[in-house]
Amino acid sequence: MDDETKRQVAHLALRRDVPLIICDVDEVVLHFVRGFERWLKERDLWLDPASYEFEGNVRRRADNRAISDAELSRLLEDFFHARIGALEAIEGAQAALEALAGEAQVVMLTNLPHVFYQARRRNLARHGMAYPLVTNSGPKGPAVRAISEKSSEPVVFIDDYPAFLESAKAHHPDAELVHFLHDPRFAPHARQVEGARARVNCWDQARQVIVDALNGRS
Ligand SMILES: [Mg+2]
Repeated sequence: MDDETKRQVAHLALRRDVPLIICDVDEVVLHFVRGFERWLKERDLWLDPASYEFEGNVRRRADNRAISDAELSRLLEDFFHARIGALEAIEGAQAALEALAGEAQVVMLTNLPHVFYQARRRNLARHGMAYPLVTNSGPKGPAVRAISEKSSEPVVFIDDYPAFLESAKAHHPDAELVHFLHDPRFAPHARQVEGARARVNCWDQARQVIVDALNGRS
């Protein structure tokens, strides 16, 4: 965790006697890929769902050749500045979190440069998900652990990216992991996460799994 992430975690006002849901943002509650694909289309590019990475998979419509990693970096940076605050919500996320927030505290943990914190916070608020937000970089395990230490109750962490779930397990073995993969084009590329409670493809499923985890049901 860098100093800014540590500062954000330190300022989270959480209750020790209430369970915790730590929830990723991109591809779990907001449509990052959909927004990025629209950005690509406007530039006569497209995303080839050949793996779970963007590198090597952004192609020109004209000849289907992949753009370079340097071009991709510039494209992503431009996209972040223009559109990161205007992503659409993933179906069912708002209703599920609102229902879950009746029995748990929700914290959004997103890997995003800190400079976009306010844009993301406003984007989430517009979709009815104005939960405390933490911006992070690198593995998520240290942040999951630091946030979890603020509650004595069960903790559920939900993310789409296998390495972040594995990092959470390594740093906080008691955390219940939910692997959320809503996009059938990319889900087959995501490896199974050892120790995950469930692998789900929609918020109806996720909600039931999280309710069971919070209540200690197997
Ligand atoms: Mg994500």
